Amino acid sequence: MSSKYIALPKGVSEKSFDAAIKEYRAVLGEANVFTDSEHLASYSKIMIPDITENHTPSAAICPASVEEVQACVAICNKYKVPVWPISTGRNLGYGSAAPCSRGQVVMDLRRMNKIIEVDAELGTALVEPGVTFQQLYDYLQEHKIPLWLSCPAPSAIAGPLGNAVDRGVGYTPYGEHFMFSCGMEVVMPTGEVLKTGMGSLPNSNTAQVFKWGYGPYLDGIFTQSNYGIVTKMGFWLMPAPPAFKPYVIRYPEETDIVDIVETLRPLRMAMIIPNAVVIVHALWELGSFLKRSEHYPGTGTIPDSVVKDLVKKHKVGMWNVYCGLYGSPEQNEVNWNIIQNVVKASGKGELLTAEQVGDDPVFKYRADLMQGKMNTAEFGLYNWRGGGGSAWFAPVSQARGSETLKQMDMAKRILGKYGFDYVSEFIVGWRDMHHIVDLLYDRTDPAQLEAARACFDELLTEFSKAGYGTYRVNTAFMDKVADTYGPVKREINRKIKRALDPNGIIAPGKSGIWN
Ligand SMILES: Cc1cc2nc3c(=O)[nH]c(=O)nc-3n(C[C@H](O)[C@H](O)[C@H](O)COP(=O)(O)OP(=O)(O)OC[C@H]3O[C@@H](n4cnc5c(N)ncnc54)[C@H](O)[C@@H]3O)c2cc1C
Repeated sequence: MSSKYIALPKGVSEKSFDAAIKEYRAVLGEANVFTDSEHLASYSKIMIPDITENHTPSAAICPASVEEVQACVAICNKYKVPVWPISTGRNLGYGSAAPCSRGQVVMDLRRMNKIIEVDAELGTALVEPGVTFQQLYDYLQEHKIPLWLSCPAPSAIAGPLGNAVDRGVGYTPYGEHFMFSCGMEVVMPTGEVLKTGMGSLPNSNTAQVFKWGYGPYLDGIFTQSNYGIVTKMGFWLMPAPPAFKPYVIRYPEETDIVDIVETLRPLRMAMIIPNAVVIVHALWELGSFLKRSEHYPGTGTIPDSVVKDLVKKHKVGMWNVYCGLYGSPEQNEVNWNIIQNVVKASGKGELLTAEQVGDDPVFKYRADLMQGKMNTAEFGLYNWRGGGGSAWFAPVSQARGSETLKQMDMAKRILGKYGFDYVSEFIVGWRDMHHIVDLLYDRTDPAQLEAARACFDELLTEFSKAGYGTYRVNTAFMDKVADTYGPVKREINRKIKRALDPNGIIAPGKSGIWN
């Protein structure tokens, strides 16, 4: 049936939707409610292996205050219209700004972009959803506040709140972003406003310094979920260290990954390495500044022999470990000596400082990320294959050498079956290890889109069968991943959803949670 809307929310008639749109416009103004395809294009564009139509929103609404969010939520309840909240909407490779199912209204919170407070002494910040990392970085620079951010690779254009509620990660010692958050304000599906932790206590000034409050700790249930719309979030910022020393350790063989993890995990656990140990495969390292077609004309997986030649030619490691030291020059010197001795004793790896590396753009962007400096250099990965297709595959394991080759072989075998390249990193967080694979494909080629979908599906199936759960996934595979965690967890998530959001209006399907 034809409609004046590019999509309609499931179960909502055009007449009802007309009435809802009219009410959103009355609250937000004409200029902040979009239903035309031109304005909705940026909310519909996806990179993940699924057809765009499955994620087409019916409208986008842009509230500018908590009261406007509450008013929109009331309208959603009245007409049973689902909303998909986004903060800065750059969840690229996980679904971008588009909803997980067709017809949801995107609630774009970018107009709520106030930095409410930065406490330079206590090292805390309280921000609204639309605040970008760049904005917060500029604020700290402008006010000469010696605090550092931790940000993900697309730092400049993404934001701390959206990244943290999706449990994203960064590269400074504060890189587990949700762990370093403190206090939320949440508009509940009923329209009530909840302040978590110490925030509910009148006259308290501890909301950004003490996470736990009293009674059940609720903040976690508002991450990777659809139980509320987070309208403010507190963060801890790291005091700028007197000295920062980034370094890289390059390893020549793929099989070195076992020893890398065994050698470096104890240093990470003892916090001699204070930030996550990022172990970058050659194809990620090279893919961020080379074009595949200029080095390999074939269409299938790039052969290992070609990768080896490129490694030699460009003098990168088959694995490249990036870490930093943060402290006084004296502290850094002590830890540097320990690291040098450990790497030397392991008999493997070339340890290089910034001075030794010289003018290397990849080292520079990694060093910038490790000190929370804005950049978007990693977007170079999208030129490797071209065609705008990307999906992050992100299984988690114990941080043990014995967990690496098994996973690498499995990933390479499955990617190889479908003609894709192993563009990967292992990241030793603390005791855990993320294995991040960017499934890069050409979205303009229907055969590759279908192959990428099947490949991603098989990666999830095989890895979860082997006990490797996924920590975060794109909007096309949320149900599948929710299933891998078993029926009890899924049912409890659903019971909470029903209790808090009886009309199912907030982001139905997020993380596989439906009413
Ligand atoms: C080249 C490249 C490198 C990347 N590297 C990293 C990396 O190092 N680390 C990393 O973590 N990610 C990385 N990403 C993925 C992603 O781009 C970032 O995580 C980014 O920060 C997420 O986008 P955002 O901050 O705009 O959040 P948003 O897109 O605004 O939010 C993310 C999701 O959280 C939920 N959400 C957002 N706001 C709210 C709210 N107010 N209330 C309730 N729910 C909400 C929604 O489901 C939304 O889809 C990378 C992407 C690319 C393309």
